[in-house]
Amino acid sequence: PHIQVTPERLQLRDIFIAVKTTGRFHKTRLALLLETWISRTKEHTFIFTDTEDEDLRSQEFRRGVPKIDACSFGIQQPHLSYNMVVTGCHSDHSQQALSCKMSAEYDGFMASDKRWFCHVDDDNYVNPAALLSLLSAFPQEGDVYVGKPSLDKPITAQELLEGNQTREVRFWFATGGAGFCLSRRLAEKMIPWASGSRFEQTSSKIRLPDDCTVGFIVERRLGISMVHCPLFHSHLENLLLVRQRSIPQQVTLSYGIFENKMNSIEVKGRFSTEEDPSRLVLNIFCFKIKNFKK
Ligand code: UDP
Ligand code: MN
Repeated sequence: PHIQVTPERLQLRDIFIAVKTTGRFHKTRLALLLETWISRTKEHTFIFTDTEDEDLRSQEFRRGVPKIDACSFGIQQPHLSYNMVVTGCHSDHSQQALSCKMSAEYDGFMASDKRWFCHVDDDNYVNPAALLSLLSAFPQEGDVYVGKPSLDKPITAQELLEGNQTREVRFWFATGGAGFCLSRRLAEKMIPWASGSRFEQTSSKIRLPDDCTVGFIVERRLGISMVHCPLFHSHLENLLLVRQRSIPQQVTLSYGIFENKMNSIEVKGRFSTEEDPSRLVLNIFCFKIKNFKK
């Protein structure tokens, strides 16, 4: 008789979530994530930064975000154990520093036993349930690269060849600021261009940032097409267009300054824009757990 081997259903803890941050954003951005979605995913969320931070573990630090106590219903107690990876990367916004961090994220995932790799920025809100249902819908043994393109057409790069020659290459890439995911099988195929020091080398070959480099490796080196998904969001798009009712289905959200104005989702809730300028942290989190009941 045949023995049917059915792959086990994907669980949230099978997803390696890498958050990219930097020392000066620990208090202003990371704190909010730790208090909200990371509090529910901390066992499999890995924070890649460039600065040790004793404060992150202390109560003092947590007092910087007192308003969240107002909706502490259902929030797990503060946890003193986040997975923090202090990389040796520079703490600036240069292509090299950012590729260095992405490379550390990738290597961290490869060394783990997780089935999916997802990258997000520290101004992303992740909706764990939506992330799980999105990734569960893919063949688990497939080659999957899913995210949201930041442009409406493939990017054009000049790939450096030997002898100072260049060649024009076009490919899609998923905006790092909206988050994206890779299946393990695909991540393994990326090894020759992505593991260890090779990720930064590949990035300097096309002289483009880390997120473009991932697209280049997947689409041009491996010939695998990115899956375009509208459920990821960065602050480079108009976030007012995300409908409040559809928020629970969105995989990621974001906030930030866009064209000199604050760009954030519109969500009605008991917290004012002054109390919750990102509109993400208090309102959505409270919305999810309390449905705004006072
Ligand atoms: N970042 C970093 N080092 C820096 C500046 C930014 O690692 O010197 C990270 C930051 O924490 C965030 C991402 O890079 O996760 C994007 O930064 P930001 O949102 O400030 O800029 P954007 O590219 O979205 O305009
Ligand atoms: Mn950003």
